[in-house]
Amino acid sequence: MNGKRRRWRNRIILAIVLFAAALAVEGAGLLTRAFGSPGDVYASFALFLVPYLIAGYKTLLEAARNIRRGDPFDEAFLMSVASLGAFAMVAFPEADPHMAEGAAVMLFYQVGELFQSYAVGQSRKSIATMMDIAPEYANVERDGALVQVDPAEVAPGTQIVVKPGERVPIDGVVTEGASQLDTAALTGESVPRHVEEGAEVVSGCVNMTGVLHIRTTRPYGESTVARILELVENASEKKARTENFITRFARVYTPAVTLSALALAVIPPLAGLGVWSDWILRGLTFLVVSCPCALVISVPLSFFGGIGGASRLGILVKGSNYLELLAHVDTVVFDKTGTLTSGTFNVVAVHPEAGVDPDYVLSMAAHAESFSDHPIAVSVRATYSGEIDREKIDEVREESGHGVSARVNERLVLVGNDKLMAAHGAPWHDCDLTGTILHVTVDGAYVGHIVIADVVKDDAKDAVDGLHTAGVRRCVMLTGDRADVAQAVGTRLGIDEVHAQLLPEDKVAEVERLLAAEGDGARLAFVGDGINDAPVLTRADVGIAMGAMGSDAAIEAADVVLMDDKPSKIAQAMRLARRTMRIVWQNIVFALGVKVLILVLAAVGVANMWLAVFGDVGVAMIAILNAMRAMRVERD
Ligand code: ADP
Ligand code: MG
Repeated sequence: MNGKRRRWRNRIILAIVLFAAALAVEGAGLLTRAFGSPGDVYASFALFLVPYLIAGYKTLLEAARNIRRGDPFDEAFLMSVASLGAFAMVAFPEADPHMAEGAAVMLFYQVGELFQSYAVGQSRKSIATMMDIAPEYANVERDGALVQVDPAEVAPGTQIVVKPGERVPIDGVVTEGASQLDTAALTGESVPRHVEEGAEVVSGCVNMTGVLHIRTTRPYGESTVARILELVENASEKKARTENFITRFARVYTPAVTLSALALAVIPPLAGLGVWSDWILRGLTFLVVSCPCALVISVPLSFFGGIGGASRLGILVKGSNYLELLAHVDTVVFDKTGTLTSGTFNVVAVHPEAGVDPDYVLSMAAHAESFSDHPIAVSVRATYSGEIDREKIDEVREESGHGVSARVNERLVLVGNDKLMAAHGAPWHDCDLTGTILHVTVDGAYVGHIVIADVVKDDAKDAVDGLHTAGVRRCVMLTGDRADVAQAVGTRLGIDEVHAQLLPEDKVAEVERLLAAEGDGARLAFVGDGINDAPVLTRADVGIAMGAMGSDAAIEAADVVLMDDKPSKIAQAMRLARRTMRIVWQNIVFALGVKVLILVLAAVGVANMWLAVFGDVGVAMIAILNAMRAMRVERD
């Protein structure tokens, strides 16, 4: 607890003690004995004024300031008017005194405010600790000694050293050493990752066992850590519809209730329906109940908690609006490669044409693919054992959904599927193996094809099952791959709909068709790996990208980013989103329900100020506690 809050708390405790003492003194009849009647009323007025002012002077000042600024309708105003009004009832000698209630209103209001500030501080802190991935320094070698420098000042290509227990400050490649990395802060994954020379490491992980020498590949500002922090910090700017609704609601509700309170206090006695003191008191009670703080604080706090809880699982949600949309998703569209399948392909077979060396086919393919980031390209290069001389390659053209063309040693090489061959008028023939076929031509002559197969991710089946259990109506798979491969994967995973042989623009069209067929209020999520599916990610209601630890495109284009490559996180994210929405609505219904009930009771004169203030503070506390549940998540 910080110093300011501690002083505030002490002030409230002091006020409560004095208040209790005043109640005791008055209750024991000491005042009447000492001052007689009506002197006792004024004595009690003075007695209750002390704890009242101790607890509430700041609120009174704030209300005065707001009135001067012409923007009076807030909680401070409501509480000040209500409590001052209660004290002012001393002007009606024929009515019972209400000083104790006036002081109580202010005291309990303060208790509620303190609690609220504590809750907000707590969730801030826990988001900060779970997002405690910001590195403080980087160790750079200078003149044979290690110096700690600000990560922002380290240029790409610098050698840095990360000792055990330290956080990797900047993305880079290991040049020396081996170690275990703890990625839990980024992915929620508790199994450490082994890295050694040549491995890429992302900033934010904690080095656990060995000293690592790393060559940085990016400036700090573009490193994973910096981008994630930026993303989480900006998340609160994108508000959910529910959140905006509550803000607008409070803006109308508070003046409306203030006016009703005024009407309630003035109209009936003017109409001769009873004594002034009675109606004024009802009006004041009305004001106390009308305080909207339970809603105004608990709804954003719930969303904040939900986003925080998600980030603890390695799920970054870019705003509460996306959390809200995610809760209503009933169609999930997956990209196949890199999303449901691991994105690394095994080369199943190389089928050269008669008289061609299989190594030649592989070599030509690997050279042509040498500049591509596509998973297919990466796998072909990994299978080719020879050297790749990049000098010999130019005129590289990657045709998305088709393949690549490049000039290797002055010869035009095409590597891709039958669409690519057809588009270039090149000869090719089919293969009877099931798999993704990469046809290879050199200077217009067919030299053979490479059959590759991708590996379904371990948790892909769980991911699809989990979504169905979570109430997702259909899971759809889109792919540029061949129909037989797609169908095989789809059947194995229990996907409801499979669309194959799509070009990236066909995927957009397909998603648009699915969007148009969506029912009212139902939402569509698209899950991709960010490689050539950015247009679809932006088009879907919720774009989910996975594997943020590496891919810039994914972080940019998506609304929800999964830090690791596990599709099963999607169902987890949806469960969390739905739970957050449930908590939000519980709070709205509960808070409004209790308020309306007490308002009605106050209007007919059954509820007094005691009930009103307990109702108000109690509801706020329960709503806040409930909101904080949104932050709790099961890590696996
Ligand atoms: P997916 O929809 O499965 O993510 P893509 O749209 O990235 O697949 O690619 C669709 C098809 O296009 C692949 O199955 C492959 O036949 C071909 N292709 C795309 N990029 C390449 C490449 N770099 N090299 C060879 N073939 C490629
Ligand atoms: Mg893809």
